[in-house]
Amino acid sequence: MREEDAERTVTHIEGDDHPHPHLAVVVEKPRSETAIASLRTEGVYDDSRRVREYDPKTVALPVTEPPAETRVLEVIRQIDPDRRSPGLEGRLADRGWTEADLESVPGSWAVIGSVILVTVPDEYSDEQARDVGEALLDHHGEATSVLADEGIANDGAAGTYREPRTRLLAGSTDTETIHTEHGTRYGLDPAKVMFSPGNQGERARMGELVRPDEHVFDMFAGIGYFTLPMARVGARVTATEINPTAFRYLLENAMLNDVADRVDAYRSDCRDLAATVDADRVVMGYYGAADGTDDAGHGTRTAEADDFLSHALAALVPGGVLHYHEATPESLLWERPLERLESAVEREGGGRDLEILDKRRVKSHSAGVEHVVVDARVE
Ligand code: SAM
Repeated sequence: MREEDAERTVTHIEGDDHPHPHLAVVVEKPRSETAIASLRTEGVYDDSRRVREYDPKTVALPVTEPPAETRVLEVIRQIDPDRRSPGLEGRLADRGWTEADLESVPGSWAVIGSVILVTVPDEYSDEQARDVGEALLDHHGEATSVLADEGIANDGAAGTYREPRTRLLAGSTDTETIHTEHGTRYGLDPAKVMFSPGNQGERARMGELVRPDEHVFDMFAGIGYFTLPMARVGARVTATEINPTAFRYLLENAMLNDVADRVDAYRSDCRDLAATVDADRVVMGYYGAADGTDDAGHGTRTAEADDFLSHALAALVPGGVLHYHEATPESLLWERPLERLESAVEREGGGRDLEILDKRRVKSHSAGVEHVVVDARVE
């Protein structure tokens, strides 16, 4: 029996001003679902609190008042009830989701402008997924669409473009929106171009690190993830992007943030332009596309940022700073990204010196793999 259920068997209820009005009924675990259904029918089941184990054989079901019909072992008071976030779970409970179903409800989702991006369990039926979508729309009154996040493409052009895989769960089919972050406005369609909430810190950091008089080369610009915050503080940015859809947003976003005069955008492979650029700072916000596993079982990738290092170095003026991103198996941290940087500088010849300024974890990429960035000055 739990301490917090110390005050359990209650004899007097009506109108009492007990400091802990949170009643619950104790039932055997195997009977919990049928008891909940019966309590709902009686109209006394309290969805605002979670079911909680009472002892190894029983659970405490939250009620607003003692049931008249439903057979229970005892009625108790809960000292610190386990409140259910009135958000998604509460709304799905209102839609008749069972306690068992509610256990797998997504605990987090991304709000990108007016579009919600949520990962729903594979085993969900279309109806359950739609329920989640509609409940999230209710929960986020300002949202207009809910997309199921089904990951990022890994093969072909879609893999190179890092195109998202999504499915509309609820709301408008028009998923184009404007997302504002630290004052930077990103116009995008999350169904067509990626927007990684996990890179938020890195986007802000680029805006803080850059100096207004710098010339930056953003090799994998996308819709302007890094280009915009850096141009907003005054830097001149040469941005390359090969995905026509992302490139269109890059141009529009430069105007949207009033930095079009400081952004030279090229719909081009960054390798075709690198030799013509003299940048004080080069950003390599790309870690290729997954294409399998090696003998050690590590995920392998195509066209990793590593393949672009020689081009990045060609664009970097002496004393400039490089931000090298990688998706690295935990077991290869930090030697692999450092070795790749060192050998790229060696390969480039010209006796340039490499100074590691910082090594950072941006976010968890996948099981056992970290998205990391290394800041390096190259003399
Ligand atoms: N760094 C971004 C962020 O923080 O969210 C993510 C950028 S996204 C992963 C990589 C972008 O690089 C995609 O928009 C893709 O189309 C673009 N890209 C891939 N290969 C490229 C290349 N060789 N030259 C220019 N852009 C490229």
